[in-house]
Amino acid sequence: MTTDKHSLFRQIPGVDQLLIHPAVESALTSYPKALVLKAIHQVLDSIRTDIKEGRISETAAGLDGESVSSRVMETLAILSRPSLRNVINATGVVVHTNLGRSILPERVIEKFRSIAGNYSNLEYDLAQGRRGSRYVHVEGILRELTGAEAAMVVNNNAGAVLIALETLAKGREVVVSRGQLVEIGGSFRIPDVMRKSGARMVEVGTTNKTHLRDYEEVIGPDTALLLKVHTSNFQVVGFTSEVPLADLVKLGERHGTPVMEDLGSGCLIDFSTYGLSKEPTVQEALSQGAGLVTFSGDKLLGGPQAGIILGKRELVEAIRKNPLNRALRIDKLTLLALEETLRLYRDPHAVMEEIPTLRMICQGYASLAAKAERLYALVRSFASDRFSIELTDGASKVGGGALPLQELKSRLLCLVPGTLSAQEMEGWLRSYVPPVIARLERDRVMLDVRTIQETEFERVAQAIRDLGDARLPGKGV
Ligand SMILES: *Cc1c(COP(=O)(O)O)cnc(C)c1O
Repeated sequence: MTTDKHSLFRQIPGVDQLLIHPAVESALTSYPKALVLKAIHQVLDSIRTDIKEGRISETAAGLDGESVSSRVMETLAILSRPSLRNVINATGVVVHTNLGRSILPERVIEKFRSIAGNYSNLEYDLAQGRRGSRYVHVEGILRELTGAEAAMVVNNNAGAVLIALETLAKGREVVVSRGQLVEIGGSFRIPDVMRKSGARMVEVGTTNKTHLRDYEEVIGPDTALLLKVHTSNFQVVGFTSEVPLADLVKLGERHGTPVMEDLGSGCLIDFSTYGLSKEPTVQEALSQGAGLVTFSGDKLLGGPQAGIILGKRELVEAIRKNPLNRALRIDKLTLLALEETLRLYRDPHAVMEEIPTLRMICQGYASLAAKAERLYALVRSFASDRFSIELTDGASKVGGGALPLQELKSRLLCLVPGTLSAQEMEGWLRSYVPPVIARLERDRVMLDVRTIQETEFERVAQAIRDLGDARLPGKGV
């Protein structure tokens, strides 16, 4: 090691010295000492590494007590912030599972305070003055909106599928098409869930084609269910065929076997009336005679995470009595959010405006272009030799395994690399407070205005401004 490096190492302030620096000392009154020490060690370690690897030079060392303690304070701020934080979704994927799927309607959020901060009639029958059921709060409205005979809800759709199979088909056979043995992100795979439930999976047909006769050949006294699974995040195109639900129902009726459909996204709105591809609706599945349908609360429904189970009374009742139900129980804040979201569906016009997921999916190009212009006006002057800024056409995605091939035409704000690379800019935006999650495409950073809320524009603009005059990305804290 060179003598320069030795002398740099000697300049690093000691832990004790930092602890009595005024800023750090006053931090000890608001942060636990262990956390302050952790921040100090983290900063000192990173300084030592920088010296070892030659990133700190004699002339611009920044090793004085003032500089180092200010880095300690920045690190402390990072260490003490919550782990789950708000981010800005500029990816254009509306139902983004990694970013929390659906954002909740304003009316739902307003109600949180009253239910979260007070006691409620969660499981209390006010008319009778005795114990009630938590499911009554959504059962009525689910039946009203969908025409289902009975309804119940659990923690999520994976749980809904599991409990339905466990209740109705444990130790018996469930027939499913090979074209529908899907894997949904986050390790939900139909064959695995089937195994966990104790049901025996009987695969029929091929990847691309399954015919009614394939089901007819295997259905028998040991068949508990015919299962249809929405293929969600992929589509087989070309030489394909699936058996329509109605035909499966007819076959099932001849053998006294119910049909269950895992709809995945489960929309209550027909998207084809808004110019998008057709997604089967929950109402259609029920009216075609499905004995059970299951779907998520936080995909196309636009509500909280939940698994919704609708169908024939005796089937839903059996599921409700399964002890697993207690383990998959929906929590009261979720129940509140679900009820309020469903109430919005009573007004078919308001629902498109008030449920952010539906509003974003159906927002038209002209309105997105105008939105993009408003963002552009806030940021255009921040362009420099580091990057330039343009507007460009592009496509957003619905996400959440719905309408996988549907491209939603959108208008994007695009950062074109100058002295900063696209990767550096993307990383910087992601480390911003709040983080701005953009996408990298054609070596550019793309910000899709479809999923950026208008109220977030100022923050996005600040992030882009800071990108123009910040310490270089990577040097960030
Ligand atoms: C998303 C999805 C699931 C899992 O739903 P979660 O609410 O994430 O548990 C199950 N089946 C299908 C077809 C899906 O699309």
